[in-house]
Amino acid sequence: MAKITFLGAAGAVTGSKYLVEAGGKRLLVDCGLFQGPRGLREKNREPFPVEPASIDWIVLTHAHIDHTGYLPRIVSDGFRGPIFANAATHELCNLLLLDSAHLQEEDAKFAAKKGYSRHHPPLPLYTTEEAQQALTQFREVPRSDPFTISPQFTVKPYDAGHILGSSSLQITITENGKSAVVVFSGDVGRYNQTILNDPAPIARADYILCESTYGDRDHPTTDPGSAIAEIVNRVNKRGGVIVIPAFAVGRTQTLMYILRQLEDAQQIPKLPTFVDSPMAASVTDLYVRHHEDHRLSFQQLEQAGDRDPLDVHEVHMTRTVEESKKINAIKTPCIIMAASGMCTGGRILHHLEQRLPDARNVVIFAGYQAEATLGRYLLNGGKDPRIHGDYIHSRAEIAEVSQFSAHSDRTEMIRWLSGFQAPPKRLFLIHGEPAAAQSFSERVQQQLHWPVAIPKLGDSFDPLA
Ligand SMILES: [Zn+2]
Repeated sequence: MAKITFLGAAGAVTGSKYLVEAGGKRLLVDCGLFQGPRGLREKNREPFPVEPASIDWIVLTHAHIDHTGYLPRIVSDGFRGPIFANAATHELCNLLLLDSAHLQEEDAKFAAKKGYSRHHPPLPLYTTEEAQQALTQFREVPRSDPFTISPQFTVKPYDAGHILGSSSLQITITENGKSAVVVFSGDVGRYNQTILNDPAPIARADYILCESTYGDRDHPTTDPGSAIAEIVNRVNKRGGVIVIPAFAVGRTQTLMYILRQLEDAQQIPKLPTFVDSPMAASVTDLYVRHHEDHRLSFQQLEQAGDRDPLDVHEVHMTRTVEESKKINAIKTPCIIMAASGMCTGGRILHHLEQRLPDARNVVIFAGYQAEATLGRYLLNGGKDPRIHGDYIHSRAEIAEVSQFSAHSDRTEMIRWLSGFQAPPKRLFLIHGEPAAAQSFSERVQQQLHWPVAIPKLGDSFDPLA
């Protein structure tokens, strides 16, 4: 019997993992880390629901940690098969997985020093070595041509317009001469974006597993540049520091690109900007290599040189902990970007500890903040966050610029779903908190009249039934 089981991002936005079984073979779609509430995070340390060694292959929709961050762990627990990803996703994972391991090691070391962890001694979920081992199992697959994994599984990727390399996967599952087409949306990006392509329409699916992160709302339609310029100028005037939680690749680049344009148009001052990450590097060459994924012209990128259009004028990549600590001494206006984007760990916590108590400063949230994360707490107006075991009093301004979201809003999601030429047998709403998934389910039923289900963790269905 063929079976698809929801092993993550069901009733929540993190931990994406879908097990597809047919003809005695097992394919895992995405292998994400759970983030957010402690109950969910603890799942990262529980035994995997199926024996990792029994999984034959893993295929990735894109490089974000909530879709790939569990790879080093599943590999160290016995998964030995190939991990299929396109070139851009592979390159991003080289940065991201090592960054994730490095930050977990830093966090565990820091927790041991301060003695606040619940684990004794605090151990990283995985080490740099384990991340390196996972990276050796990557096999590159085409960006948009179909490829066959086995007689049971054929995959056709479509550009999802979410980050470099991001794809929706249309997987044909075959068993005993019967086939079904299942689309895994991955994370669906936006239309008419600054850098990335529109999400590509897909014509056909028997079943769709679709994300619903922003299923209950629309993003503001105002220009993201003017929104960010307004904040930068206001905070600069009062002598404050701008802190932006984000990973060094992805949204940081969109932000950086827009900041750079604003600088060149003299709409904002040229502030020193710190990208604080052990893996920080200019990623312009990544964009040059993967031009099929975005709208930037080659000429624009080739002219780059010392005038890199994807970096602001005064950018500092801080890799070591010592360099990172030196940022604390800066008391004049500057911009600091650090991971993690939802403030669940990493160097951003040290910067928040430093900068939250000062009312002149601002924290700008540009990405989704999951339930029970420090990011969500601050966005909801929380004033006494607990960071590294200590309560601090937050007086800084908290701003949200959701124009920078890398996810479709509900109107854009309906537009993406409308690309299918016939209704699926069922639409499964995944990768959304319960309220967002529920609200989007009602909208889909009203506007498209499709059958919709909101699966729970561990639920499964037979796509060939
Ligand atoms: Zn993503």
